[in-house]
Amino acid sequence: MDRRKFCKSAVAAGVAASYPLLSGCGRSETPVATSANTSIRGISLDGVEIELEKAAIKELGESMTGPVLLSGHPDYDSARTIWNGMHDKRPALIARCMNSEDVSNAVTFARERELLTAVRGGGHSWPGKSICDDGLMIDLSQMNAVTVDAEAKRAHAQGGALLNALDANALEHGLVTTAGVISHTGVGGFTLGAGFGRLNRKYGLAVDNLRSAEIVTADGKIRRASEEENADLFWAIRGGGGNFGVVTSFEFQLHPFERNIFSGGIVWPVEQARDVLEYYAEHAASLSDEMYMGPTLLTTPDGAGLIAMDIVYNGDPVAGEKELEALRKIGTPIDDGVKMQDYMVMQTNQDAAFGHGVRSYAKNAMIKEWSQGLVDAMLDAYNGDPRIFITNHVAGGAVKRVGELDTAFPHRNAEIMLVIVSGWMDPAQDDEAIAATREVYAKLDPFTGGYYSNIDTDRAKVTGNYGPAFERLHAAKVQYDPGNLFRLNSNIKPT
Ligand SMILES: Cc1cc2nc3c(=O)[nH]c(=O)nc-3n(C[C@H](O)[C@H](O)[C@H](O)COP(=O)(O)OP(=O)(O)OC[C@H]3O[C@@H](n4cnc5c(N)ncnc54)[C@H](O)[C@@H]3O)c2cc1C
Repeated sequence: MDRRKFCKSAVAAGVAASYPLLSGCGRSETPVATSANTSIRGISLDGVEIELEKAAIKELGESMTGPVLLSGHPDYDSARTIWNGMHDKRPALIARCMNSEDVSNAVTFARERELLTAVRGGGHSWPGKSICDDGLMIDLSQMNAVTVDAEAKRAHAQGGALLNALDANALEHGLVTTAGVISHTGVGGFTLGAGFGRLNRKYGLAVDNLRSAEIVTADGKIRRASEEENADLFWAIRGGGGNFGVVTSFEFQLHPFERNIFSGGIVWPVEQARDVLEYYAEHAASLSDEMYMGPTLLTTPDGAGLIAMDIVYNGDPVAGEKELEALRKIGTPIDDGVKMQDYMVMQTNQDAAFGHGVRSYAKNAMIKEWSQGLVDAMLDAYNGDPRIFITNHVAGGAVKRVGELDTAFPHRNAEIMLVIVSGWMDPAQDDEAIAATREVYAKLDPFTGGYYSNIDTDRAKVTGNYGPAFERLHAAKVQYDPGNLFRLNSNIKPT
């Protein structure tokens, strides 16, 4: 039974009086762990109800610099709210960490009790893996600082930093690294899964720019991971997601960058989509590393079908104009907004469209090459539903030149990552909208090979997707998280 409904019921009132584990439902004076006056019901890693003793909760609270929020705390609801409105869960405890020691204490508390544990970075997990019912949420949202060492060309981002802070701080120094396309996404989950962005054809994925990390492993130890130190762990976190511990700090390579950049969008009516996509299919593989060009099929809320091309040219604008010439001659665009403008215009222009609280579902897959069949399938899959759009993250270039096993992200030979995204607000539409999105994806599935686990909503089996990287990932999991404490992710089971 849903816990909230249970708490509201008359039966609950009677039971709660004689069963202290449930009396937390009516708690009003114990919003933080240090003032806990009752035990709380928790849930184990295996889904069994467990008791979190009052003394232990207090001890956790006292060990931490940041607060441990309990249900009823004024910040509890905002802390448990993540980006996708589909996931409304209530952790027993939210450990709002301020530093690596806080994270270590929270991890130790959870491991010792085999308590279900979620780690929240930026909270953008599509499938809602950064939140859980009745477990512990390790909340990194306050560990969100980014500092830049301009001379060394390095950025240090705390585990809960957002991409906006990474971009903004680096740009202030005339530097940049690969960040994703929505600026309120977390650096944490984004990087650990691979990290696609508009500059990756030149600089590689986020994992290719990661130079070191500080990570709290399941034993509570705070470790450094780099090519020189714990190299196996460093390899595993570059694509293996949150399986190996809580990353408290990421160190990124930065690149000199002129932020006023030739970029923008070109938009055509969907009736011209075949011409645009056929051009793209023919030329995508031969575009320069400087050119990021990615198509999206979408429908506006008032029903207008469109194909939009997202352009960022990371180089000499004159060369960019030249490379764009042929695309610009296709059909009759409704809008051509490609011009010299601040890079952050592109990096934030979809933030509002992907605002917090939308109910959303996504499927994705890697595509090795463009073909006529794929173009036909995309046009067939496009169905004019304004909730669904067919988009992609461009790969190729520098992404492709990294060896398949140099990092734990094995899908190096793809040209693009296709993403089918849907968004709606009314919970009554959930089932139907998800089914409609799956239907669109099904038409494209025959052209795909593997998927990006960061945008993995309902794929249960991860073994095959990690391909040749799996064996080494499994060995790292056995070494660093033998009890599978970190399981709310694209999970690699240690057994
Ligand atoms: C609107 C939107 C736009 C996106 N755009 C892009 C894009 O441009 N490019 C791209 O590659 N991906 C993109 N993604 C996918 C994105 O990379 C993943 O959703 C990613 O997991 C988000 O990271 P987060 O820290 O915000 O998420 P969270 O929900 O906080 O966490 C996601 C997963 O990562 C783990 N995790 C997070 N931080 C840490 C940490 N510090 N240590 C250990 N584990 C951690 C969590 O436990 C969870 O399993 C997008 C997603 C959304 C919703």
